[in-house]
Amino acid sequence: MAQAYDKLESTTSRLQMADDLAVFFKTVPPGLIRNVVYLLQGILVPEHHGIQLGIGDKLCEQALSKVSGKTIKQIEAAYRKIGDLGQVAETALSVKTQKSLGGGSLTVEKVYDNLYKLATVSGEGSQDQKISLLAELFSQASPTEAKTIARFVTGRLRLGVAESTIMDALSVAKIGDKTHKDVLERAFNLTSDLGQVAETWFNQGLDAVSQITPQPFNPIRPALAERLPSAKDIIERLGKCSVEAKYDGFRLQVHKYGKTVRVYSRRQEDMTAMFPDIVKATLDQLNADEAILEGEAIGYNSATGQFVPFQETIQRKRKHGVAKYAEKIPLKLFVFELLYADGTDWTVRPYVERQAELARRIIAGPILAQAETKIIEKPEELENLFDKLVGEGLEGIMAKDLHAPYSAGARKFAWIKLKRSYSSKLADSLDVVIIGFYYGKGKRTEFGFGGLLSAIYDPNEDRFRSIAKIGTGFSEQQMADFSELLQKDALKQKPNNVDCLIEPDVWVKPRHVITVIADEITRSPVHTCAWSDKEGLALRFPRIKGFVRTDKSATDATTESEVLELYEMQRQR
Ligand code: ATP
Repeated sequence: MAQAYDKLESTTSRLQMADDLAVFFKTVPPGLIRNVVYLLQGILVPEHHGIQLGIGDKLCEQALSKVSGKTIKQIEAAYRKIGDLGQVAETALSVKTQKSLGGGSLTVEKVYDNLYKLATVSGEGSQDQKISLLAELFSQASPTEAKTIARFVTGRLRLGVAESTIMDALSVAKIGDKTHKDVLERAFNLTSDLGQVAETWFNQGLDAVSQITPQPFNPIRPALAERLPSAKDIIERLGKCSVEAKYDGFRLQVHKYGKTVRVYSRRQEDMTAMFPDIVKATLDQLNADEAILEGEAIGYNSATGQFVPFQETIQRKRKHGVAKYAEKIPLKLFVFELLYADGTDWTVRPYVERQAELARRIIAGPILAQAETKIIEKPEELENLFDKLVGEGLEGIMAKDLHAPYSAGARKFAWIKLKRSYSSKLADSLDVVIIGFYYGKGKRTEFGFGGLLSAIYDPNEDRFRSIAKIGTGFSEQQMADFSELLQKDALKQKPNNVDCLIEPDVWVKPRHVITVIADEITRSPVHTCAWSDKEGLALRFPRIKGFVRTDKSATDATTESEVLELYEMQRQR
């Protein structure tokens, strides 16, 4: 497995990666495939289980010191010099006294078991236990294995191999080509559990994977919306369609099974503890023993009944002071989807049927309400409704195809968004990934932060490509916060899943997503987004909105093809 990682880390071609992975998968015993897939994703269990490794560099250094016979000071010095704990581990352990150590006898089971224990021990003495668990792995590892383990536990592997690459490889490993990738993808989108899908595929085959349906407490990956520039374009595309208010809050997926309710974020994190009000409302206002719903939560002012701005709503996403904030910023959940109810998979049924069933299932009450919808045929009607809703302070509208199934995990024209901002030159904000930062000059040096280098994502190639340097618009607080946050993800070299022609002062692991607005998209010889004919696309006068978007991971950022669409919209205007 360590060799497979090594090979993956040195390849930039997605096709090559899928081929290498397929060869590797063929060697994996069926009983291990589940955990192997998790490890390749850079996780131990799917996100919604809420178990994270979260090991700091220090702990890893201590474990290394324990096994290699080097002092912590020596390990730290080597880390400062090389900038990669993986390489430090590799070197430190290649000169270890082999007689006392069983180098090379490690198994995937052992690695997984120890890491799982490491992630779940808590309480008194847990720190020492963690060091021992990790040290035990190092003591049995070959130098290459130690390198991989050190990078894995400190979160320094590349993102994890893209899920679509893993699915390509799973299909090839079993049947020789990618024909069944779609079936795997569908099952993954419905379960958010690639390990489970891989295991079913390897052990039970195609029929079993095809029969996977939504289940409570397995979050479904969200359907996403396309953009079009005007009401006219939308009606041309969809014909008669349903138009819903686009609420500017955050998306929640609510799962109910008997008396248990769990709430998940857009990226499948379990957020149940943050929303006792939504949990209670679901028990009171949902007429189903088992169900999966999706909706937008938005805060309102209890005195005036008006919605509050996004920046206020988002304060409800918090670990502490939950009860106090639930009172201060009460939420409404505008439910726009029914995905599963009492044994029936609704994702495959047309929109109109899902909506009708949703209406039957929601009981009127204070928190849950079905999103406002209207069936519309003419562009003028759509424009009027848009103006009315925007006038009420909403973000815009979502037009929905009356006949489409729910497109889990995909951005399709089944949903089309039209926002207030589309009337300005650059139609929409972008969600970009931070790939580096600058120290800055003058006053900024005191914060150790002077600006960001950002990128969009290309899911086809699994690459991040630069789109903008953001140097203005930061508050002092933001500068301090960014400096602290990004130091933790600093890398000595450009990460190998990044395409970039310029050098920031510090590279960082592509992980944090921020929302930026800009005046327009321009051609640029400097940025690599949508690179062709010696030019790419860049943002002109980019400014940050808010801070890091914790509801998005790097691969949820705006994609290269979306930037091209926005560029096209801008040109048409
Ligand atoms: P954006 O950044 O434009 O809000 P996004 O990138 O988070 O969008 P999109 O697919 O582009 O995701 O836009 C859909 C989002 O709009 C959904 O994720 C959801 O949070 C929100 N939303 C608000 N109202 C609705 C609605 N009626 N139907 C569907 N989604 C809605």
